[in-house]
Amino acid sequence: QLIASDQRYLVVGLGETGVSVVNHLRAQGKTVSVVDTRKQPPNTSWLADVHPEVPLYRESVPQDYYDSSVTWVVSPGIALSEPMVIEAQASGASVLGDLDLFMEAAKAPVIGITGSNGKSTVTTLVGEMLAKAGLRAAVGGNLSPAALAILDDDIEVYVLEMSSFQLERSNALGLDVAVVLNVTADHIDHHGSMAAYHAAKHRIFRKAKAVVVNDDDVLTQPLVDSTVQVTRYGAKAHRDAEFKLLNDALWMGVSKIIDVSEMALRGRHNHLNALVACAIAACFDVAAEAMAATLRTFSGLPHRCRVVQTIAGVTYINDSKATNVGAALAAIEGIGPNSDLVLLAGGLGKGQDFSALVPAINRYVREVIVFGEAAGELAALPLLRPAIQVENLQQAVSRAAEIAQPGDTVLLSPACASMDQFKNYQDRGDQFSDCVSSLPGGAHE
Ligand code: ADP
Repeated sequence: QLIASDQRYLVVGLGETGVSVVNHLRAQGKTVSVVDTRKQPPNTSWLADVHPEVPLYRESVPQDYYDSSVTWVVSPGIALSEPMVIEAQASGASVLGDLDLFMEAAKAPVIGITGSNGKSTVTTLVGEMLAKAGLRAAVGGNLSPAALAILDDDIEVYVLEMSSFQLERSNALGLDVAVVLNVTADHIDHHGSMAAYHAAKHRIFRKAKAVVVNDDDVLTQPLVDSTVQVTRYGAKAHRDAEFKLLNDALWMGVSKIIDVSEMALRGRHNHLNALVACAIAACFDVAAEAMAATLRTFSGLPHRCRVVQTIAGVTYINDSKATNVGAALAAIEGIGPNSDLVLLAGGLGKGQDFSALVPAINRYVREVIVFGEAAGELAALPLLRPAIQVENLQQAVSRAAEIAQPGDTVLLSPACASMDQFKNYQDRGDQFSDCVSSLPGGAHE
């Protein structure tokens, strides 16, 4: 048992996760305080209205919080390397994350999904497949709503998206099904190294009862003992994975689930997302018909490889959620074989190495237009046709419209975070759609 009954709690960070933690702990009658050192913390008036009894510290917390009787529940946005958190750990206080509290409280099986890319898509798909099979499934976690906000005694199975930040501060979660979809570099500035990022992701497997393993990506494969149920999926014909992407169809053993031509999702990376969703759903005895029915209609989440509109024979695709190199690579390689690309990329580079993009760009991309903080770094890549550097997204879209030929695709797949020039990736995607609508011949919604 991690948490003694006389514990006091300090919730670090008052964002969406912090709010869910405060609500959860107060509903159990626990003694709770909050600290948020931002200049303008969110949700302060909510706290004052709904939980006036909960103190909010704005700069530092009194010394008596640095004590083994206090549990620090640290929001994923706060680095474990914060001096305050390091000091707490040194004082013997328990430091954990919202997922630990969730696992302690959840009465139904919990599926945990992490990975560098595809988490939200797979989490949503699994939720829909389980619902199609008649189960009362709740979906949340890193993909809002926060995990603790979806706790409900009526739920039969939880599907949680988990970020490396959430996992890095979690203890052994004991998930019913755990999966790491893929591991490619992301957030290396935060985690310090690929090894540390990998280790954070793999914390999802601790005490898991069943795992679903990507046979094509060794970095996803856990070391688990023989009591753990293992389901494998992949696209390599010679492997003996039970779930396969082969001959343009998804297979469960020798029975076909669906031809990819019948699926609403596009791109090979999404076919693999669909496959792993089937493998996870199968752990709950979902029938192939329910999987197929979901895949025929689910066309993907906003800002992930979604067509905005086609103007003068040029298709504009918004993949603003591609905030790292692996995601952009999947989009370029997924769409490139069918259409020449004009690629719009740039933003906050997060310390990534962009050179992995070079072969795919040289092969599929007519021109690359770069903007934002990482523009210089991208423009320095050894490309066959050096990138065109512009100031911002609006200029990038106008320039792309001049360059693109009928039949081309203008792809916003930035390979970078958005916060240098935008509120978030949604804002970047929305602004892209607006810029496209304003082009000559563009339609406003
Ligand atoms: P996450 O929640 O992990 O960020 P999303 O489902 O929101 O994942 O997709 C994020 C980005 O990654 C999108 O740009 C999408 O096109 C790309 N992507 C989705 N699935 C994969 C995958 N299996 N491999 C590589 N890239 C992917």
